[in-house]
Amino acid sequence: MRKPFIAGNWKMNKTAVEAADLASKLKESVGDFKDADILICPPYTSLAAAQEAIKDSVIDLGAQNMHWEGQGAFTGEISSVMLKDVGAKFVIIGHSERRKYFSETNEKVNKKIKAAISAGLLPIVCIGETLEQREKGQEKEVIENQLKEGFDSLSEEDLEKITVAYEPVWAIGTGKTATGQQAEQMHSFIRNWVRENFSDQTAEKIRLLYGGSVKPVNIKELISNENIDGALVGGASLKVQNFTEIIKNSV
Ligand code: PEP
Repeated sequence: MRKPFIAGNWKMNKTAVEAADLASKLKESVGDFKDADILICPPYTSLAAAQEAIKDSVIDLGAQNMHWEGQGAFTGEISSVMLKDVGAKFVIIGHSERRKYFSETNEKVNKKIKAAISAGLLPIVCIGETLEQREKGQEKEVIENQLKEGFDSLSEEDLEKITVAYEPVWAIGTGKTATGQQAEQMHSFIRNWVRENFSDQTAEKIRLLYGGSVKPVNIKELISNENIDGALVGGASLKVQNFTEIIKNSV
């Protein structure tokens, strides 16, 4: 049985003071709820403040991106080592906004996954097709390629540290959610890919999150599907009440 996992991607929102306020309100709101794993991913500059605010709570901290090198002449970048140092446990890798606006390729995703794991971070790897690709019936081909190249030369042991977030690009921030059936079809495809390329055991263990306009009203239908183990939540994770309801409706 896989434990539900609800992760909030705050994107480029909240100053440090605002992040501390949101995180401490969330801490109060979820109390000691342990039936789902709960994660918040504030922007880099708010990680320390958020970490302080969620201390001694059931909420974990994650970052939204990282560079694959540990240190050096990479102006403007942040490394896995720095994220560990600030208290992050997870890191989102390959979000579609990074792929679209910052030229994140499957090859870079692969390097980042490897660097994250070797620094002791747990990657949440985002994959998903665009509307155009879905309309051409290419969604499975796109996902397969993202998995094949993104997970290139990873071991079984590496896979155990990874969570996959299936996020159809056409459903992110648009208010359009994939139906439970559409999402389940893709999740089952992803789990089977893991089964074929790694093992039964890894396929059964790996958590697959759905992302794309998840709200308190649609989480129940989504998570009632066999292969949907949780959600990566953008917009709704910025509202304490909505995010708390998503968490509580996920079990
Ligand atoms: C996301 O940022 O990963 C996301 C799914 O956003 P939203 O929930 O706002 O669609």
